[in-house]
Amino acid sequence: MIENSKVNSTEVAITKNDSPAKAINDGIKLLGGISRFIGKEDSIFIKINLRAPNGFPINVNMDSLRTLIILCKDAGAKKIYVGGFPDYGVKTSTLNDTLGLKSYLENLGAVFISLDDPATSHFSSIEVNGKNIEYPTRVLESDKLIILNQVSVDPLFKCTLSLLNCYSLASSNSQKIDKLVRSGKDYLLLDQYKQDLLSNILDVFTIKKPCLVINDMFYFLESAGPFIYKDSNLIRTGLVVSGFDAVAVDLITINLLKIDLLDCDILLEARNRKLGITNVSKINLKGESLDDNKLSVNFTVNKLNEITINNTYLQTGRICSGCFKEAYHLLNFMKTHMTKDLKYIRKQSVLIGENPLEPDTVENIIVFGDCAVKTTKNSDFRHIQVLKKDTIITTVGDKVKKEKSSKKPPIVKEKINKSVIELPGCPPDMHTSLNSILKYYGKTQAPNLSFYNALLSQFIIKKSEKLITKKGATGDV
Ligand code: SF4
Repeated sequence: MIENSKVNSTEVAITKNDSPAKAINDGIKLLGGISRFIGKEDSIFIKINLRAPNGFPINVNMDSLRTLIILCKDAGAKKIYVGGFPDYGVKTSTLNDTLGLKSYLENLGAVFISLDDPATSHFSSIEVNGKNIEYPTRVLESDKLIILNQVSVDPLFKCTLSLLNCYSLASSNSQKIDKLVRSGKDYLLLDQYKQDLLSNILDVFTIKKPCLVINDMFYFLESAGPFIYKDSNLIRTGLVVSGFDAVAVDLITINLLKIDLLDCDILLEARNRKLGITNVSKINLKGESLDDNKLSVNFTVNKLNEITINNTYLQTGRICSGCFKEAYHLLNFMKTHMTKDLKYIRKQSVLIGENPLEPDTVENIIVFGDCAVKTTKNSDFRHIQVLKKDTIITTVGDKVKKEKSSKKPPIVKEKINKSVIELPGCPPDMHTSLNSILKYYGKTQAPNLSFYNALLSQFIIKKSEKLITKKGATGDV
């Protein structure tokens, strides 16, 4: 692991103010001032949330970022880079165009880095626990790494902690979880997807430990999230948690949100791997009282069928976190952006996971994920029964024959149900899924989906736009 700071401190500051800038400044002051973290002539990489082209609070709070950059400059930093890796293959350049980050940061004396742009960014292949992780060379070569993390709810991990923020320093290739079934182990029962994801998150974290971690929860997106969905709600807490040790900062953050350590998989895994302080009594708390500032917030739903969507019937079988996460976003996308489409579609069913129950109609059935596609191959809804068409009447004789035969029971024929949209993948990819759903419904039936899908298609990195990776480069891990 690359050590990023000479300070080995257990101090964590909780600050509360009426402006994000003041809350961040106060936190750094309580921790002994910015010079404890940054030396003169240091090059700094500030990792921010840069997830989707939807602005704040999906992405970084600009007030907080500006405050941090000014502090780094005051400490004599030689160069300040700012960057992140968007979710779902969205291009950083799109976020820059939407948010105007490049010119904003230039005016502040910092440099915006598009980590996915091969012209400005290279990746080094770092080996951690037998895996090769593509990690930005710029971050490795910077003297200091700072994590400025916007805290919101998260469907898999309850909230977006700084350890999760570090994960999006790895390329999207390296973040992908391949299904690896261990002999004699039930992949779904053990939620192996989540185990592998947790292991990857902490592997990425160990590549370069940040010198300063700020969990910005001044504004907090509760209910649905971390993207802005119909059921999302923004609350203003005024709180910021900062410190030297990412694990300790995250531990205090979950405490403020009344999340038990035993319910926080990331921190439990960090504890197993002894990656930081996971005992509150060993943390030297500064600033506001932890007990007096606990928050009651609404987290995301635990079950997919708690996401109620107009005219949509949902059936889930056995699933793992992979399909849970992707279906969570797809369903919330539908609820948020397809309200009008679904009014006219009138009825659709979504089947997710292994062996879901039969849908209640045979129309518009979305089969989500490899498990659902595979285990419903012989389900009843795959076939429909249709009445055999009447014989065409061409003569009077035919008419007599027809009248006689009409007393017989109708002839029923079985046909393959074509009202099924299969979305393969383990888990399926969001954009491919939206494309398939749109192809099935068509623009006239789903004009809203068509509009948003066209927008999204412009934002996404095409498979041909590859990253440049330095082969064989290694970090000081
Ligand atoms: S298809 Fe979905 S539920 Fe099945 S193993 Fe893959 S991610 Fe998990």
